[in-house]
Amino acid sequence: MKKPIIAIDGPAASGKSTTARLLAARLGLVYLDTGAMYRACALQAERLAVPLDDLGAIEALMDEIELRVEFEGGMNRIFLGDEDVSRLIRSEHISQQASAISAQPSVRLKMVELQRKIASGGGFILDGRDIGSYVFPDADFKFFLVADAEIRAQRRFDELKSRGLDADYQEVLEDINRRDENDAGRALAPLIKMPDAIEVDTGNLTIEEQVNVLYDVIMQKRGNAKIYLAEHSGFCFGVRRAIQMAIEAKGQGQNVCTLGELIHNPVVVKQLAAQGIVVCDDPTHLENHTVIIRSHGAPREIYEALEASGNTVVDATCPYVKRAQQLVQEMSAKDYQVIIMGDEHHPEVVGMRSWGNGSTLVLAPGSTPELVLHSKVCIVCQTTKKPEDLAAMSAWFSTKVQELRIFNTICLATQQRQKATADLAQHADVMIVIGGQNSSNTMQLFHLCQRYCHCHKIETEAEIQPQWLEGKKIIGLAAGASTPSQTILSVYNRIKEINGEPERVTTIGEVPLYKEESC
Ligand code: SF4
Repeated sequence: MKKPIIAIDGPAASGKSTTARLLAARLGLVYLDTGAMYRACALQAERLAVPLDDLGAIEALMDEIELRVEFEGGMNRIFLGDEDVSRLIRSEHISQQASAISAQPSVRLKMVELQRKIASGGGFILDGRDIGSYVFPDADFKFFLVADAEIRAQRRFDELKSRGLDADYQEVLEDINRRDENDAGRALAPLIKMPDAIEVDTGNLTIEEQVNVLYDVIMQKRGNAKIYLAEHSGFCFGVRRAIQMAIEAKGQGQNVCTLGELIHNPVVVKQLAAQGIVVCDDPTHLENHTVIIRSHGAPREIYEALEASGNTVVDATCPYVKRAQQLVQEMSAKDYQVIIMGDEHHPEVVGMRSWGNGSTLVLAPGSTPELVLHSKVCIVCQTTKKPEDLAAMSAWFSTKVQELRIFNTICLATQQRQKATADLAQHADVMIVIGGQNSSNTMQLFHLCQRYCHCHKIETEAEIQPQWLEGKKIIGLAAGASTPSQTILSVYNRIKEINGEPERVTTIGEVPLYKEESC
């Protein structure tokens, strides 16, 4: 989503620059202080003793001037060559000179060229006299701030006094009136309210109220997208339990490792490694370690080998996976041919299969065996598969065997997450599924969402491309069982930032959950 250009025009002392600066901070945009650029021109003219009414000399000055703006913490730093003149240009004297020099066409043309160069990519708020009419006539939002000359004069007078400067109200009022006349009568790009600009009378508004008025208009017109998180997203019970068991084991002893990555999420794996809980992929040479069996479980021969080498096994196999393993073992012992619906090489399935016997088969969802060997068949399922795939496979076997036992071993957390994600995807314009690249349950969510809308799978917020969100009204988020809350939060905040809403949330409870009535 392209960031907007916001033009705020109006006469002197109408509150443009303060409003622009505060609004930019609120919207996460950059404020370009165009007035400071004219001040820098005035300073340079004074340094080189160029008379402000000498058109030729001013033109030559503009050909030579090396003016640069840098942005730092919401502030503009103005450079002439390599010199930072941000402070020097703030004097009242330079302010008067800036007003005079800005009336010169060559100065305006030069500054407009520079302003367009800086801000044309979007994401800027500019204030001035001709931003919406001349500098950026196609600005996304145009505001025209007005207030009675007396009110503006009073503001200016108060400001000068607050800076300890000598001021006379009548003189200030006359100066304001003179500036208004100059601004309106200028040959090039005079001060005018464009038909598509929204006029805001700031006469009776505090600065906060001014900012609120503009902010509300922008939010209303942009119709900012709603962002929802599918319920049951993120860490499931089994993953939380495994992490807790690993941390507790580390607290009780040295040499703690997990057999394979504890969960399919590089962020969490790195965090655990920082606590001394490392990953071991090859258990054959492990001795005297505390070895955590992850929530996926492990083949039964691994348990025996680890214990034979003097290791302590902490079994964090998820109870849902454990139940599936036990069913494979029990039903095999009862002479059923066990069919495991799942991904053959997924560690959970490799582990489950080891509890069966020579006739145990693994079938991917949607596939069928070349021949059925047994008349008694039992189907169990990788815990993260889809119920409809299990139903389809069961239907196929029901016509092929004499006796069929079906165990829905899809875990409750997975079923709830898939249902909530599908509900949201049916109403969203785009879904972003967050999870590790190797995470099977994240991949399931991704495929599920693809049925209903555009969908992208990411590991972190850095992968989000703003164009994915362009023109989208409802953005859905879903996260796999191994995705930490912190990652979900970062993704949510990044999307808000792209949408021009800089307020960040800091807890997962602040991310709106999708309920049927949400849309
Ligand atoms: S997804 Fe389900 S089976 Fe897998 S660890 Fe989580 S709760 Fe257990």
